[in-house]
Amino acid sequence: MTGVVGRFAPSPTGALHLGSLIAATASYLNAKQQGGRWLLRMDDIDTPRVVTGSDALILKTLADFGFEWDGVIYQSQRHEVYRHALAQLQARDHLYACLCTRKQLKDRGSHFPFYDRHCRDRNIKTADIHTALRLKTPLEGAWQWRDLIQGEQQTRWQIDTDDFIIQRSDGIFAYHLACALDDVDFGITEVIRGADLLASTAPQQLIQSLLGKSSPNYAHHPLITDAQTGIKFSKASHAPALDTKNAARLVLQALSFLGQCPPTRLEKEPLMPIWQWAITNWQLKAVPKQTPAPRALLF
Ligand code: GLU
Ligand code: ZN
Repeated sequence: MTGVVGRFAPSPTGALHLGSLIAATASYLNAKQQGGRWLLRMDDIDTPRVVTGSDALILKTLADFGFEWDGVIYQSQRHEVYRHALAQLQARDHLYACLCTRKQLKDRGSHFPFYDRHCRDRNIKTADIHTALRLKTPLEGAWQWRDLIQGEQQTRWQIDTDDFIIQRSDGIFAYHLACALDDVDFGITEVIRGADLLASTAPQQLIQSLLGKSSPNYAHHPLITDAQTGIKFSKASHAPALDTKNAARLVLQALSFLGQCPPTRLEKEPLMPIWQWAITNWQLKAVPKQTPAPRALLF
Protein backbone atom coordinates (compact mmCIF):
# COMPACT_ATOMS: atom_id res chain seq x y z
CA MET A 1 0.00 0.00 0.00
CA THR A 2 1.21 3.47 -0.85
CA GLY A 3 -0.06 6.77 0.51
CA VAL A 4 -2.22 7.29 -2.57
CA VAL A 5 -5.94 7.59 -1.83
CA GLY A 6 -8.60 8.12 -4.49
CA ARG A 7 -12.35 8.45 -4.21
CA PHE A 8 -15.56 8.24 -6.19
CA ALA A 9 -18.32 10.47 -4.86
CA PRO A 10 -21.73 9.77 -6.39
CA SER A 11 -24.85 11.64 -5.25
CA PRO A 12 -27.46 9.02 -4.27
CA THR A 13 -30.12 10.67 -6.39
CA GLY A 14 -30.64 7.78 -8.79
CA ALA A 15 -28.87 4.98 -10.61
CA LEU A 16 -25.33 5.20 -12.01
CA HIS A 17 -25.00 5.84 -15.75
CA LEU A 18 -22.15 5.67 -18.25
CA GLY A 19 -20.78 9.07 -17.18
CA SER A 20 -20.59 7.80 -13.58
CA LEU A 21 -18.83 4.62 -14.73
CA ILE A 22 -16.18 6.75 -16.43
CA ALA A 23 -15.59 8.78 -13.25
CA ALA A 24 -15.51 5.65 -11.09
CA THR A 25 -13.14 3.88 -13.50
CA ALA A 26 -10.70 6.79 -13.77
CA SER A 27 -10.48 7.36 -10.00
CA TYR A 28 -10.31 3.60 -9.27
CA LEU A 29 -7.54 2.78 -11.74
CA ASN A 30 -5.52 5.83 -10.85
CA ALA A 31 -5.45 4.73 -7.19
CA LYS A 32 -5.09 0.97 -7.77
CA GLN A 33 -2.34 1.31 -10.38
CA GLN A 34 -0.26 3.14 -7.76
CA GLY A 35 -1.02 0.54 -5.08
CA GLY A 36 -3.27 3.02 -3.29
CA ARG A 37 -6.67 2.90 -1.59
CA TRP A 38 -10.02 3.84 -3.15
CA LEU A 39 -12.93 5.18 -1.11
CA LEU A 40 -16.58 5.68 -1.93
CA ARG A 41 -18.38 8.75 -0.68
CA MET A 42 -22.13 9.19 -0.78
CA ASP A 43 -22.82 12.89 -1.35
CA ASP A 44 -26.12 12.79 0.49
CA ILE A 45 -26.28 16.12 2.36
CA ASP A 46 -28.74 17.64 -0.10
CA THR A 47 -31.51 15.59 1.49
CA PRO A 48 -34.41 16.83 -0.68
CA ARG A 49 -32.62 15.40 -3.73
CA VAL A 50 -31.67 12.06 -2.15
CA VAL A 51 -33.63 9.07 -3.43
CA THR A 52 -34.14 6.47 -0.73
CA GLY A 53 -32.39 3.21 -1.55
CA SER A 54 -30.20 4.59 -4.31
CA ASP A 55 -27.07 4.36 -2.13
CA ALA A 56 -27.60 0.60 -1.83
CA LEU A 57 -28.32 0.38 -5.55
CA ILE A 58 -25.11 2.28 -6.36
CA LEU A 59 -23.04 -0.04 -4.12
CA LYS A 60 -24.61 -3.12 -5.72
CA THR A 61 -23.93 -1.79 -9.23
CA LEU A 62 -20.29 -1.01 -8.39
CA ALA A 63 -19.85 -4.50 -6.92
CA ASP A 64 -21.45 -6.07 -10.00
CA PHE A 65 -19.03 -4.12 -12.16
CA GLY A 66 -16.13 -5.62 -10.21
CA PHE A 67 -14.99 -2.54 -8.27
CA GLU A 68 -13.35 -3.20 -4.89
CA TRP A 69 -13.35 -0.36 -2.38
CA ASP A 70 -11.70 0.34 0.95
CA GLY A 71 -14.53 2.13 2.75
CA VAL A 72 -17.76 4.08 2.34
CA ILE A 73 -18.35 7.57 3.74
CA TYR A 74 -21.77 9.19 4.11
CA GLN A 75 -21.75 12.98 4.15
CA SER A 76 -25.01 12.88 6.12
CA GLN A 77 -23.00 11.51 9.06
CA ARG A 78 -20.51 14.37 9.05
CA HIS A 79 -22.71 17.31 10.06
CA GLU A 80 -20.65 18.00 13.18
CA VAL A 81 -17.47 18.35 11.14
CA TYR A 82 -19.13 20.73 8.69
CA ARG A 83 -20.65 22.74 11.52
CA HIS A 84 -17.28 23.06 13.22
CA ALA A 85 -15.54 24.24 10.02
CA LEU A 86 -18.34 26.71 9.35
CA ALA A 87 -17.91 28.16 12.86
CA GLN A 88 -14.16 28.51 12.25
CA LEU A 89 -14.72 30.34 8.97
CA GLN A 90 -17.28 32.55 10.67
CA ALA A 91 -14.96 33.34 13.59
CA ARG A 92 -12.27 34.41 11.12
CA ASP A 93 -14.75 36.73 9.36
CA HIS A 94 -14.76 34.82 6.07
CA LEU A 95 -18.57 34.47 5.91
CA TYR A 96 -21.54 36.76 5.67
CA ALA A 97 -25.29 36.30 5.75
CA CYS A 98 -27.31 36.90 2.59
CA LEU A 99 -31.06 37.49 2.45
CA CYS A 100 -31.40 37.84 -1.32
CA THR A 101 -34.05 35.83 -3.07
CA ARG A 102 -33.68 34.58 -6.64
CA LYS A 103 -36.27 37.12 -7.69
CA GLN A 104 -34.34 40.02 -6.12
CA LEU A 105 -31.16 38.87 -7.85
CA LYS A 106 -32.98 38.73 -11.16
CA ASP A 107 -34.51 42.17 -10.67
CA ARG A 108 -31.01 43.55 -10.06
CA GLY A 109 -29.81 41.92 -13.29
CA SER A 110 -27.57 39.50 -11.40
CA HIS A 111 -28.19 36.19 -13.01
CA PHE A 112 -28.72 33.25 -10.72
CA PRO A 113 -26.57 31.48 -9.63
CA PHE A 114 -24.11 34.34 -10.09
CA TYR A 115 -24.19 36.58 -7.04
CA ASP A 116 -23.48 40.33 -7.01
CA ARG A 117 -22.15 40.56 -3.40
CA HIS A 118 -25.11 42.73 -2.45
CA CYS A 119 -25.11 41.61 1.21
CA ARG A 120 -21.34 41.48 1.68
CA ASP A 121 -21.18 44.73 3.65
CA ARG A 122 -24.70 44.76 5.09
CA ASN A 123 -23.65 43.06 8.30
CA ILE A 124 -26.86 41.04 8.64
CA LYS A 125 -27.18 39.33 12.01
CA THR A 126 -27.83 35.63 11.65
CA ALA A 127 -29.18 34.93 15.14
CA ASP A 128 -32.88 34.43 14.58
CA ILE A 129 -33.49 34.45 10.83
CA HIS A 130 -32.90 31.77 8.29
CA THR A 131 -30.26 33.22 6.05
CA ALA A 132 -27.83 31.76 3.58
CA LEU A 133 -24.16 32.10 4.48
CA ARG A 134 -21.73 33.06 1.73
CA LEU A 135 -17.95 33.04 1.63
CA LYS A 136 -16.08 36.29 1.02
CA THR A 137 -13.96 35.43 -1.97
CA PRO A 138 -11.09 37.78 -2.91
CA LEU A 139 -12.36 40.96 -4.59
CA GLU A 140 -9.82 40.73 -7.36
CA GLY A 141 -7.13 38.47 -8.75
CA ALA A 142 -7.24 34.84 -9.74
CA TRP A 143 -6.51 31.37 -8.39
CA GLN A 144 -3.82 29.49 -10.30
CA TRP A 145 -3.68 25.73 -10.15
CA ARG A 146 -2.66 22.82 -12.33
CA ASP A 147 -5.06 20.09 -13.35
CA LEU A 148 -3.31 16.75 -13.94
CA ILE A 149 -5.33 16.26 -17.16
CA GLN A 150 -6.45 19.72 -18.30
CA GLY A 151 -3.17 21.52 -17.49
CA GLU A 152 -2.68 25.03 -16.07
CA GLN A 153 -5.86 26.70 -14.84
CA GLN A 154 -6.73 30.19 -13.76
CA THR A 155 -10.00 30.91 -11.99
CA ARG A 156 -10.74 34.65 -11.77
CA TRP A 157 -12.55 35.63 -8.59
CA GLN A 158 -15.82 37.44 -9.26
CA ILE A 159 -15.70 36.53 -12.98
CA ASP A 160 -15.43 32.74 -13.11
CA THR A 161 -16.86 32.28 -9.62
CA ASP A 162 -18.64 34.40 -7.02
CA ASP A 163 -19.18 34.67 -3.25
CA PHE A 164 -20.53 31.15 -3.18
CA ILE A 165 -22.88 29.68 -0.59
CA ILE A 166 -21.43 27.73 2.34
CA GLN A 167 -24.75 27.04 4.06
CA ARG A 168 -28.11 27.37 2.35
CA SER A 169 -31.04 29.24 3.89
CA ASP A 170 -32.71 25.88 4.60
CA GLY A 171 -29.70 25.01 6.78
CA ILE A 172 -28.16 22.49 4.39
CA PHE A 173 -24.39 22.66 4.08
CA ALA A 174 -23.23 23.43 0.56
CA TYR A 175 -21.49 20.83 -1.59
CA HIS A 176 -18.30 22.96 -1.77
CA LEU A 177 -17.91 22.99 2.01
CA ALA A 178 -18.61 19.28 2.49
CA CYS A 179 -16.48 18.17 -0.44
CA ALA A 180 -13.53 20.42 0.49
CA LEU A 181 -13.50 19.03 4.05
CA ASP A 182 -14.08 15.39 3.14
CA ASP A 183 -11.31 15.30 0.56
CA VAL A 184 -8.84 16.60 3.15
CA ASP A 185 -10.12 14.63 6.16
CA PHE A 186 -10.03 11.27 4.37
CA GLY A 187 -6.52 11.89 3.07
CA ILE A 188 -7.50 11.96 -0.61
CA THR A 189 -4.32 12.59 -2.58
CA GLU A 190 -5.87 12.74 -6.06
CA VAL A 191 -9.40 13.91 -6.81
CA ILE A 192 -10.33 12.50 -10.23
CA ARG A 193 -13.75 13.58 -11.48
CA GLY A 194 -15.62 14.87 -14.52
CA ALA A 195 -14.82 18.19 -16.19
CA ASP A 196 -18.28 19.47 -15.20
CA LEU A 197 -16.70 20.00 -11.75
CA LEU A 198 -13.64 21.88 -12.98
CA ALA A 199 -15.07 25.21 -11.83
CA SER A 200 -15.64 23.72 -8.35
CA THR A 201 -11.94 23.29 -7.72
CA ALA A 202 -10.95 26.90 -6.96
CA PRO A 203 -13.81 27.37 -4.43
CA GLN A 204 -12.93 24.06 -2.77
CA GLN A 205 -9.21 24.83 -2.64
CA LEU A 206 -9.99 28.29 -1.23
CA ILE A 207 -11.99 26.73 1.62
CA GLN A 208 -9.15 24.30 2.33
CA SER A 209 -6.61 27.07 2.38
CA LEU A 210 -8.71 29.37 4.63
CA LEU A 211 -8.89 26.46 7.10
CA GLY A 212 -5.11 26.03 6.93
CA LYS A 213 -5.25 22.67 5.14
CA SER A 214 -3.32 21.68 2.05
CA SER A 215 -5.25 20.61 -1.04
CA PRO A 216 -5.08 17.31 -2.89
CA ASN A 217 -4.18 17.13 -6.58
CA TYR A 218 -7.07 17.38 -9.04
CA ALA A 219 -7.66 15.81 -12.45
CA HIS A 220 -10.84 16.34 -14.49
CA HIS A 221 -11.60 13.81 -17.20
CA PRO A 222 -13.63 14.79 -20.29
CA LEU A 223 -17.38 14.25 -20.33
CA ILE A 224 -18.98 11.74 -22.64
CA THR A 225 -21.57 13.24 -24.98
CA ASP A 226 -24.70 11.85 -26.60
CA ALA A 227 -22.97 11.89 -29.98
CA GLN A 228 -20.37 9.44 -28.64
CA THR A 229 -22.89 7.04 -27.13
CA GLY A 230 -25.90 7.56 -29.34
CA ILE A 231 -27.97 7.76 -26.14
CA LYS A 232 -28.80 10.35 -23.53
CA PHE A 233 -26.37 9.87 -20.67
CA SER A 234 -26.64 12.49 -17.92
CA LYS A 235 -28.88 12.07 -14.89
CA ALA A 236 -30.62 15.33 -15.78
CA SER A 237 -31.43 13.96 -19.22
CA HIS A 238 -32.58 10.62 -17.76
CA ALA A 239 -29.54 8.61 -18.79
CA PRO A 240 -30.17 4.89 -18.81
CA ALA A 241 -28.95 3.08 -15.71
CA LEU A 242 -25.81 0.97 -16.15
CA ASP A 243 -26.73 -2.48 -17.39
CA THR A 244 -24.94 -5.08 -15.27
CA LYS A 245 -25.40 -7.73 -17.96
CA ASN A 246 -23.14 -5.67 -20.22
CA ALA A 247 -20.59 -4.82 -17.53
CA ALA A 248 -17.50 -6.09 -19.38
CA ARG A 249 -18.41 -4.28 -22.58
CA LEU A 250 -19.22 -1.06 -20.73
CA VAL A 251 -15.93 -1.12 -18.80
CA LEU A 252 -14.08 -1.50 -22.12
CA GLN A 253 -16.06 1.43 -23.49
CA ALA A 254 -15.12 3.54 -20.45
CA LEU A 255 -11.45 2.55 -20.86
CA SER A 256 -11.43 3.52 -24.54
CA PHE A 257 -13.14 6.80 -23.76
CA LEU A 258 -10.39 7.47 -21.20
CA GLY A 259 -7.72 6.98 -23.90
CA GLN A 260 -6.49 3.64 -22.52
CA CYS A 261 -6.62 1.55 -25.75
CA PRO A 262 -7.58 -1.87 -24.30
CA PRO A 263 -6.43 -4.67 -26.67
CA THR A 264 -9.21 -6.24 -28.78
CA ARG A 265 -8.57 -9.69 -27.26
CA LEU A 266 -10.24 -8.36 -24.09
CA GLU A 267 -13.56 -8.08 -25.94
CA LYS A 268 -14.07 -11.80 -25.39
CA GLU A 269 -12.99 -11.75 -21.76
CA PRO A 270 -15.03 -11.43 -18.55
CA LEU A 271 -14.56 -8.55 -16.09
CA MET A 272 -11.67 -9.93 -14.05
CA PRO A 273 -8.98 -10.03 -16.78
CA ILE A 274 -10.20 -6.66 -18.06
CA TRP A 275 -9.63 -5.07 -14.66
CA GLN A 276 -6.28 -6.83 -14.31
CA TRP A 277 -5.15 -5.41 -17.65
CA ALA A 278 -6.54 -1.96 -16.79
CA ILE A 279 -4.89 -1.75 -13.36
CA THR A 280 -1.52 -2.74 -14.80
CA ASN A 281 -1.72 -0.47 -17.83
CA TRP A 282 -3.54 2.63 -16.56
CA GLN A 283 -1.95 5.89 -17.66
CA LEU A 284 -3.39 9.18 -16.46
CA LYS A 285 -1.45 11.05 -19.12
CA ALA A 286 -3.30 9.14 -21.87
CA VAL A 287 -6.66 10.62 -20.79
CA PRO A 288 -7.67 13.24 -23.38
CA LYS A 289 -8.47 16.83 -22.49
CA GLN A 290 -12.02 18.13 -22.53
CA THR A 291 -12.75 19.81 -25.88
CA PRO A 292 -13.89 22.44 -26.29
CA ALA A 293 -12.59 23.74 -22.98
CA PRO A 294 -15.38 24.36 -20.43
CA ARG A 295 -16.21 28.05 -19.95
CA ALA A 296 -14.36 28.40 -16.67
CA LEU A 297 -11.18 27.39 -18.46
CA LEU A 298 -11.16 30.26 -20.90
CA PHE A 299 -8.88 33.16 -19.98
N1 GLU B 1 -21.39 14.17 -5.93
C1 GLU B 1 -20.89 14.94 -7.03
C2 GLU B 1 -21.60 14.56 -8.31
O1 GLU B 1 -22.13 13.46 -8.38
C3 GLU B 1 -19.42 14.71 -7.30
C4 GLU B 1 -18.56 15.36 -6.34
C5 GLU B 1 -17.09 15.27 -6.64
O2 GLU B 1 -16.61 14.33 -7.29
O3 GLU B 1 -16.41 16.17 -6.15
O4 GLU B 1 -21.60 15.34 -9.23
ZN1 ZN C 1 -27.62 38.82 -0.59
